[in-house]
Amino acid sequence: MKLQFAFSFCVLALAACQTPSALQTAQRPAWSIGIHGGAGVIERASLSSETEERYRMALSAALSAGADVLEKGGAALDAVEAAAKILEDEPLFNAGRGAVFTANGRNELDASIMDGRTRAAGAVAGLTRTRHPISAARKVMEQSGHVLLSGAGADEFAAEAGLEQVAPSYFFTEHRWRQLEKRLQERGLPTPARPSGVPQETAPAAPADAPNEQDKRGTIGVVAVDQRGHFAAGTSTGGMTAKRFGRVGDSPIIGAGTYAMDDVCAVSATGAGEYFIRLSVARSICALIELQGRTAQQAADQVIQTDLAAMGGDGGVIVIGPQREVVFSFNTAGMYRARRSAGTPEEVSIFKD
Ligand code: ASP
Repeated sequence: MKLQFAFSFCVLALAACQTPSALQTAQRPAWSIGIHGGAGVIERASLSSETEERYRMALSAALSAGADVLEKGGAALDAVEAAAKILEDEPLFNAGRGAVFTANGRNELDASIMDGRTRAAGAVAGLTRTRHPISAARKVMEQSGHVLLSGAGADEFAAEAGLEQVAPSYFFTEHRWRQLEKRLQERGLPTPARPSGVPQETAPAAPADAPNEQDKRGTIGVVAVDQRGHFAAGTSTGGMTAKRFGRVGDSPIIGAGTYAMDDVCAVSATGAGEYFIRLSVARSICALIELQGRTAQQAADQVIQTDLAAMGGDGGVIVIGPQREVVFSFNTAGMYRARRSAGTPEEVSIFKD
């Protein structure tokens, strides 16, 4: 009897003494993943149901690839890389194959990745030959002793690290070329010659150029937390249509386009990169969570809806917060995005509502 009483007392006392954060910890999902495929003027009226379906399927396939890694107990970094590679191979998105063109008709690819466990990071800018820029960023992090490599040196490093190299024409897509032509015409500039190795004009392999296609960007990003509680984030892009050659955006800048820190945040951004660099968007969101105790949603909204908007920039972020929740914030009409946590079904969304 005495023993039973003592046992019941202990159980009650334990429950009463559990702090809110201990209770929250118990409710946290075992793992989570979020992805984006760019933000911009993405409106229901401008997207046919077939095109919308293609985007949804592509997002879902990438999300599943990452979720499978996490479900099996794999590392957040592996989930980020697996999902990002699928998005880089999908011509719908402005990363890897399907990247936008520079004003002189080339594809220059940027990417970064960060390990929240150690805050190790790697990035590449201006790749022209490496099929998967996200993997090149990871190799930089793990094998180079540096954080950011650019241009021919970055491609050469990726090749030496054993990553698949392709002809620059591999990244070419007709619909991105048409976007370039249109953008240059608007600026009264001539169109450069089609890149060598590219077939004569063909039907676009991706959605027709709707009036606002220029403003749908399509950078890709992945954030994940694994069953060991490690956070990771990665971002990959072709940059902005008709950018000056040599221009580097926020995506390969650690703290601007990508940031990860265990128990605090994993962030990947998309939008007008110059603003994201000036605001250190990804790091700022993490700092608000870490130092001011804001929730991931509050922190993301502060930086995207208030600070970025005040500066005149547009775009969005995906964020995993301390409770392993995946949140989104964007100040554009839409953002291609998806999320899933252990034990909950996937959610794929495009428009604001
Ligand atoms: N942030 C990318 C850049 O500025 C573009 C984008 O996300 O759409 O290069």
